[in-house]
Formats: sequence, C-alpha cells, structure tokens
Amino acid sequence: MSVNSAKSRDPIRSTRSERLLVLSSVLLVIAILSIVAFLLIRERANAELSAARAANNIVQLIDADVLRNVELYDVSLLGLIAASQREDLKSVSPAIRHLAYFDRATAAPYKGNILLLDSKGDVIANSASVEPRKGNYADREYFQSHVNNPDSGMFISRPFRARAPEQDWRISFSRRVNGPQGEFLGVAEAAMRLSYFDQLFNSLSIGRDSTVNLISKDGILLAQQPRLAEELIGKDFSSRPNFQRIVKEGNGSFTGLSSRHKDKRLYTFSKVGNLPLIVIVALSSDEVFAAWKRTAVVVSSATIALCASLLWLTGLLCRELRRRHSAEQELSQLAATDPLTGLANRRSLDQALHHEWFRAQRSAQPLSLLMIDIDHFKAFNDRHGHQGGDDALRSVAKVIDTHVRRPTDLVARYGGEEFSVILAETDSAGAQQIAEKIRIAVEQLPLVGGDVSPITVSIGISTWTTATDISLEQLLFAADKALYQAKENGRNRVVAAQ
Ligand code: GH3
Ligand code: MG
Ligand code: MG
Repeated sequence: MSVNSAKSRDPIRSTRSERLLVLSSVLLVIAILSIVAFLLIRERANAELSAARAANNIVQLIDADVLRNVELYDVSLLGLIAASQREDLKSVSPAIRHLAYFDRATAAPYKGNILLLDSKGDVIANSASVEPRKGNYADREYFQSHVNNPDSGMFISRPFRARAPEQDWRISFSRRVNGPQGEFLGVAEAAMRLSYFDQLFNSLSIGRDSTVNLISKDGILLAQQPRLAEELIGKDFSSRPNFQRIVKEGNGSFTGLSSRHKDKRLYTFSKVGNLPLIVIVALSSDEVFAAWKRTAVVVSSATIALCASLLWLTGLLCRELRRRHSAEQELSQLAATDPLTGLANRRSLDQALHHEWFRAQRSAQPLSLLMIDIDHFKAFNDRHGHQGGDDALRSVAKVIDTHVRRPTDLVARYGGEEFSVILAETDSAGAQQIAEKIRIAVEQLPLVGGDVSPITVSIGISTWTTATDISLEQLLFAADKALYQAKENGRNRVVAAQ
C-alpha cells in the first residue's frame, strides 16, 4: 500500500474550497440581483406615485375651476328664478325686467343664452335680448326631467349642438321653477359652451400621449384635451370597465388598459364637487415610466455585466485553485513517495509510524513492524548490474505491496534494499503470518536470467502490545535485531522479536 492516508485528504479540501467559492459567488450574485430588482421595483412604484400625484394636482385644479364656474351658472339660474317670482317686477318695463332677471349672469364665462321657460316650454325671457325670441324647448331632456322630478336640483344636460346659427357644442345647467305649492311653473336654463373646458384643459401641460377628460356621471364625454377625435364628444362610455371602476371609486387612481388605445394608462380621477361630473386625467404608461425604463435598462445591463464578470472570475479562480491543488498534490506525492518503487519513502514511514504508534497507545491495540531485507543483494547487483538490481527491487516491492491490503497498513522503502511494513492492530502471530506469505511469495518470483537460486528476503518482526509496552525506538531496534537474527540464522526466514 503506497498511499499515505494524510495525502488523500487534499482533493477533498480542494473541492470543498472550490464549492465554497462557487457558493459564495452565486449567493453574492443572487444578493446583487435581488437588491437591484428591489430598487428598480421601488423606483417604478415611485415613478407611478409621483405621476399620480402630479395628475391629482391637475385634477384638483380643474375640479376647483369647474366647480367655481358651475356655481356661477347656478347663481345666475337661482337669481333668474328669484327675480321671475317677484311680483313687483311684473309691472316694470321689459328692459328693466330684463336687467333684473339677468343681473347675476354677467360673470359666467363662455355662457350661451340664459333662458326662462314657462311650464309648456315656451321662452319667457332670454338673456340675449329684451324681446325674447320665439321658441319651444319642451322636447329637451332637461325640461322633461324637471317636469317629472320636483327635487332634481340643478340638472346638467348631455352635450348638445346649439341651434343655428352657432351650432357649437354646449351643455346646459337648468333648475326647475316651482310655484308656492311646489307645482311646476317652468325651467331656468343656462347654456355653457364646451370651448370653456377646451380653454381650461389647454392651459395644462400633461404630455403627448395623455389626455384630460370631463365626463358626466352617466358616462357622456363632455370635453377632452388633446381632442383625440371629434366624434368622441357626446359619446357614451358608461359600459367601459374603466369608467365603471371610476364611478365606483369616486376619487383615486389606478393603472388600467385603455379600451380605445389598447395600451396601459394611469387614470387619476375625481368627482367635481357634488356635480354629476368627473374629471379624469389619463396618463400614458409609456410616458409615466419612460425615465424609469431608461434607468432600468442601464442599471440592469450594468448589473448583469457585473454578475457575469463575477461568475467568470469565480470560474477562473476555481480553475487556478484546481491547478494549484493538483500541483501541490503532485509535489506532496513526490515528497512522500520513493521514485524507484512507488512505495512510501522513509519520510512517510516516519510520519505514519508516529501516527500509528500514538493511535495504538490510545486504542491499546497491538502494533507490528516488519523489517525486510533482501539477501545477498550486493552479490545480485554484481551479477546483474545496477539496472537488474533496480528491477529486482521493484519486483520485491510489488510482492510486499500486494500482501499488505488494509488501509491503515503502510509499506515503505526504508532505504537501499530494505523495506518496512507497519501493520496496525496486528499482533505478533498475525504479523508472522503476513511476513511468511511475503517471504514465500518473494522466493517464488521467477529466477532472474542465469541465476540458480531465487531472490530471498529475511524479515524481522517486532510488536508493541500493552503487555510489552516498549518505546517506539525500542520497537524499531527490536525489529532490526530480529532481522539481524534472521540473517544470522541463515537468511530467507522470518524472526519475531520476543
Ligand atoms: P545481506 O544478505 O547481509 O543483506 O547482504 P547484502 O549484500 O544484501 O547486504 P549489503 O548491505 O552489504 O548490501 C546491500 C546492497 O544493496 C548494496 C547495494 O549494492 C545494493 N543497493 C542498495 N540500494 C540499491 C539500489 O537502489 N539499487 C540497486 N540496484 N542496488 C542497491
Ligand atoms: Mg541491507
Ligand atoms: Mg541485504
């Protein structure tokens, strides 16, 4: 057995440190990727949050402005209704009555006509002229609503086209005129040009693919900026899932798929006071996340490059480590081995002997040592030359090695034509058996050319037991002495020290 048990631990240590290196690199890569992913996800959420916040500011701004203006219309209507019910104004001239009826109406921006209709829908008063123009509005939705609903408050109509000549888009605000017993006396109605919202929305800057919208609570789109298509105004969006969600939530924001653009949009919305109107700012996701996307691409590429380099370096380091370990192993193998026979050398023998000696002391198991010396080897060398002698040494080494099989045993070349065998946990009788087998096997080696007698060995055995309890030096000395005795007794024999 030529392999020293201490040497066999090296490759294990090598693969263990390699595994540790790979594991730490992989963990490091996972940690880097997790941190970067976490930061990018957080940045994305921040981008969404600040876009929603900006959109919400716009929504609040519009909300406040629209509310203020609708209130102005309401003030006009309430003023008109109050004036129409004053008895004293019935007797004054039409011009003064006209002034009194519409004195609160001047401030409303983008106003169209303000009309006072009687219970049949005929025009009683018209802000545009002292002499009311002829007309009947009984067919109008707002008129019918007020007829049927005494408590409807202010009614905001669907957008409609004004009658000739302007024909522009308008919505109307109207209130029912009640008699003393709550009976229907007519309707006060003010129209607002939708260009008001266009002007209002126009002053906001919200990005190319984004829109700001005013929509009635039953889903009619009243105004939009930028105007995506003319035919969208007055269109019913009440069946769209996004609109239904907006109506349900009232105020807030969410990211949803635009049914028109088929892309993701960030919707921020708010009811306009207690009016049946909703302002919606729809920001394109591409725009909201454009800056984040650019950062994400740069950061991810840099991270991936970093991780790839890290893994590549780890690979290089592992290869270097393996190379170094195998070089070290080769060196220590060389340092521990006898080059001629491949057996352990004297140095390994000394180490193993110390190791086994202390192990024997601890376990109280016997330890045997064989000293093997080739007989008349000088003469053999003289007959067959140095090369022949070397060949014979190798053959004898191989024979000894094949007879010593247990992993804890060790065969070594002690020097010259002498060999040593450490037999752990083996008593003298066991050692004699092995020694005898070796002796016979050597004797049975084929005769070397021209020789009449075979190569033979003499073997001295010494054994440590708890009973003898000799020192290591004494054990070596006893083996030597036994070998000398074997030589003395005529060679080709085994002698065990007593
Ligand atoms: P004995 O039976 O008493 O042991 O006689 P011996 O001739 O074997 O003993 P001795 O110690 O006088 O001679 C040992 C010889 O072994 C001397 C040397 O020529 C030979 N020898 C030692 N090492 C080597 C080696 O590495 N190669 C060869 N070829 N011969 C060696
Ligand atoms: Mg000798
Ligand atoms: Mg000899």
